[in-house]
Amino acid sequence: VRDEVERALSACVIDVVDYPQPGVMFKDITPMLADHDAFTAVVTALASAGRDEDGNVIVDKVVGMEARGFILAAPVALALGAGFVPVRKAGKLPRETHAVSYALEYGEATLEIHQDAVQPGERVLLVDDVLATGGTVAATRELVESCGGTVHAVSVLLELTFLPGRETNPGLTVTSLGTV
Ligand code: AMP
Repeated sequence: VRDEVERALSACVIDVVDYPQPGVMFKDITPMLADHDAFTAVVTALASAGRDEDGNVIVDKVVGMEARGFILAAPVALALGAGFVPVRKAGKLPRETHAVSYALEYGEATLEIHQDAVQPGERVLLVDDVLATGGTVAATRELVESCGGTVHAVSVLLELTFLPGRETNPGLTVTSLGTV
């Protein structure tokens, strides 16, 4: 699995220069998603943050952030036998929400969660494709805590180590499958 994850990251994630704006090196994960072996290995590796050392599942919910977080978090939730919860951009969830606004690497955003999506006392695994400034993870943690849940761990495919994603999220256990 380790070799397959390394191949997934090195051969199946494409760097796109200056997208969506100058100065950003965009990590395009769509070739990885289109490769069954790579996608399977990545989902298995991301899910391991939701287990203890004996392999027991220790989270109740897996939260994915719109949009690429959905694609990774949903199969991770199924692999763990946990529920999946979407955190969405403003105005997309139809019922009562909690909302948090925050700064992105490029731009600004508001994220929302359904108020009843995470129950008080539930333990949550956050899953996303890229950890950059850490603003998305910090906002999502606030949303989970607004529901009364706690973030047990964060699992990302890639971490941009030249940005302060970990520093923005003190006290959170962050696991990345690869670093840039
Ligand atoms: P941040 O909140 O700065 O940690 O940014 C993380 C979010 O923005 C994630 O949901 C990523 O999908 C996206 N993102 C940020 N930087 C990149 C990048 N260089 N390539 C692809 N996605 C990115």
